[in-house]
Amino acid sequence: MSRKPLIAGNWKMHLTIAESVELARLVATASEQLDDREVMIAPAYTALDAVAKTLKESNVHVGSQNVAYETEGAFTGEISPLMLKDIGVTMPIIGHSERRQLFNESDALINKRVTAALKNDLIPVFCIGETIEEREAGNTFSVLESQLKNGLAGINKEQAAGIVIAYEPVWAIGTGKTASTEQAQETHAFIRSSLSEMFDTSAAESIRILYGGSVKPDNVDALMAQNDIDGALVGGAALKAESFGRIVNFQ
Ligand code: PEP
Repeated sequence: MSRKPLIAGNWKMHLTIAESVELARLVATASEQLDDREVMIAPAYTALDAVAKTLKESNVHVGSQNVAYETEGAFTGEISPLMLKDIGVTMPIIGHSERRQLFNESDALINKRVTAALKNDLIPVFCIGETIEEREAGNTFSVLESQLKNGLAGINKEQAAGIVIAYEPVWAIGTGKTASTEQAQETHAFIRSSLSEMFDTSAAESIRILYGGSVKPDNVDALMAQNDIDGALVGGAALKAESFGRIVNFQ
């Protein structure tokens, strides 16, 4: 089964509209010749529409950093999947560790967001990952299994086949620490075997599993050479055209 690699940039709460449009243009140029991989960027909400317009004729997908679980109504502060689709978003990031840790988003809430995204034909980039305490206690696999089972509860295998999973060890996000390529591959293989048990082998083989956590130009090639690493979710290094341009052009 060949999975098309996906390199996704999460711009978090950074950049003005003008800076976002400028960076989006540069990312589009860096991605112009790439048809063996996909590229996505997820700007802040304020810049989303301008970036989506900038990328309209490019091969770069537009992502959002979250998505509401309802399509309309009294949900102050939330952005509906229909509103995101309306401006050209195709891939909402859901369950990022910053949402889980700083905003107390639970597995149950994340599951509602994933379900709503799928129902509205969006491709969820569903994030999971263990903290350093959980890893040191030897609980990495049980934590990931529980995040997968709870976050994807009620999703059938046809729907599952279309989602993207981002494995982001919390201790590697924004810290400069990266999981070793062996650690990352071992964990990705575990995630794929869990998905195979939850759905079936064919669904598990088609799901792209991205690695996230201090991905940089100097480690991307080794990470992307691993069998079960199908792409990267990039934070800090996605904010500069030079580093992200190199990452999307991984060897
Ligand atoms: C992220 O926020 O998803 C992330 C992986 O950040 P960084 O690349 O900065 O570690």
